[in-house]
Amino acid sequence: MPERVVIVGSGPAGWTAAIYAARASLEPLVIEGAVTEENRLQGTMPLGQLALTTEVENYPGFPAGDLSQFLRTSLPEEHHWMVDLHQKEGCSGPELMHLMRQQAVNFGTRIVTDDIVEVDFDCRPFKLRSLGGQETEAHCVIIATGARANYLGLESEEKFKNRGVSACAVCDGALPRFRDKPLVVVGGGDSAVEEADYLSKFASTVYLVHRRDQLRASKIMAKRAVENPKIEIVWNHQLTEVLGTEADGVTGVLLKSTVDSSEREQKAAGAFMAIGHTPNTAFLAGKLEMTDKKYVKWTVPFRTNTSVDGVFAAGDVADDYYRQAVTAAGTGCMSALDAERWLAVKGL
Ligand code: NAP
Repeated sequence: MPERVVIVGSGPAGWTAAIYAARASLEPLVIEGAVTEENRLQGTMPLGQLALTTEVENYPGFPAGDLSQFLRTSLPEEHHWMVDLHQKEGCSGPELMHLMRQQAVNFGTRIVTDDIVEVDFDCRPFKLRSLGGQETEAHCVIIATGARANYLGLESEEKFKNRGVSACAVCDGALPRFRDKPLVVVGGGDSAVEEADYLSKFASTVYLVHRRDQLRASKIMAKRAVENPKIEIVWNHQLTEVLGTEADGVTGVLLKSTVDSSEREQKAAGAFMAIGHTPNTAFLAGKLEMTDKKYVKWTVPFRTNTSVDGVFAAGDVADDYYRQAVTAAGTGCMSALDAERWLAVKGL
């Protein structure tokens, strides 16, 4: 029997789609990704990018800090007995993802821990083949495989991930370890400027390291970087090594000139990579219409439809603009509702 709906991916988009599909009695199957060394190294393990972060402070409903204090001030007095049930500090990315996964399981979602490596969308039902060799047939598919942040590929960068090296200022920038300390952002696009600008709220100085002498960012964003007194642009330099210790994490970076052979050391408590993202769509090449940056194309305005009827996409795999957990969850919900209505129309 073919599955009614298969969801590929296990970030906030995938689990939200699963919660909604399961509650609509579609008994969704989630292919959550494989646990492999390759996936670990490129940041595509099950539970997605949020599982690679620490505290999540901007997901609505999970305020950082002492949750019992928030509840005491927001709940009416007759509900204060609940406060003692929540003796907890905020919510971390991995916790949030495990909670979403459990929520999906509670409504009857089934899970396979494997990667999809090949799809056939020319036949009905669709066929999906996994890394482990399993073949699955499905009437309807939701693609929610997300995107991964690009890193420079340095060994030292890998060593200090989550201890000062990050690719998400919005996720990690406000952590105490970065407060009033010099920080480095690598990149010259809108993301790099946005991250540098955001980090300048916390840092003593943000060094924006760009490999050329001109920003790629839009004029208005570039102006923002140039005019921010806490941002210093380091032109024509490439970060070649992250420096640090076991005890303190990142303590600095090595910067090499791209115009001569000079090198300099820059003290920094954090190194934020903002050199673009890569959508996890390699297995979809030639099967779905993509944007020029290889993101899945949404083909109907305000819907999650793709170029193949019955295949929907949610989250960062189809969105290189907002890229937030809450927007991914939002489009995950939309994709499940779109899938449910599509199946109903087809009588499947
Ligand atoms: P992007 O525009 O592709 O810029 C990536 C930057 O990283 C470039 O400056 C590039 O340098 C640099 N880079 C790439 N690989 C590198 C490497 N190995 N070493 C050093 N530097 C490297 O990516 P993005 O900034 O993430 O923006 C993506 C899209 O989202 C854009 O269309 C952007 O306009 C949009 N966006 C908009 C906003 C906004 O409007 N508020 C905010 C964020 C993003 P080169 O310039 O030398 O190639």
